[in-house]
Amino acid sequence: MNPFIPNETYSKISDISLDYLINDIDIKGLIFDFDGTLMRGSKLSNETFEFINKAKMRGLKISVLSNNIHLDESVLQKLNITTTKKFALKPLKKPFLTMAKRMKLSPIRIAVIGNNRLSDIFGANRAKMYSIYIQNLNGFMFKLKLRDKLKNLGIKHTDD
Ligand SMILES: [Mg+2]
Repeated sequence: MNPFIPNETYSKISDISLDYLINDIDIKGLIFDFDGTLMRGSKLSNETFEFINKAKMRGLKISVLSNNIHLDESVLQKLNITTTKKFALKPLKKPFLTMAKRMKLSPIRIAVIGNNRLSDIFGANRAKMYSIYIQNLNGFMFKLKLRDKLKNLGIKHTDD
C-alpha cells in the first residue's frame, strides 16, 4: 500500500462520517492537525466546532498534533482540547505513538485528520493509524476554474 494514500479524503472536516468511524471500524480517538485542518486561515469554522463537540459527545478522545511552534491557545480552550503537542516533528512515527499513549489508545483505534500528505497522512499510515486527508485546495481551485470559465464567457466574477 502506498503510504501517501489516505484511507479517506474530504474537502472539509464536517463531511467525515462519525457513524462509520465509530460503528464500522471501531475508532476511539481523533488526532487533528492544526493549521489548514482545524483552522482554515486564522479561523475555526462553526461546522468544525460542532463536529468536534459531536465527536466528544459520542465518546471519542480528541487531541492536536502540530508541527507549528505556536498554537492558538484560545482556540484549544474553546474546543476544550487538553492533549496537544506542538513542534511535533511529524511525519516521524514517534510523535504519533507518544500521543496514542497519552490518549491511552492503541494506534489502530485512532484516526488522524490532516491537510498534509507528508506530515499527516504518511505519518499516520506509518504509525498504523487510520488516515483522513482534508484536501482544502478544492474550494480554492474550483473558484479559480469557475472564474476562468466565466471570464471566457465574458462575465466578470467578483465573488472571491
Ligand atoms: Mg496542516
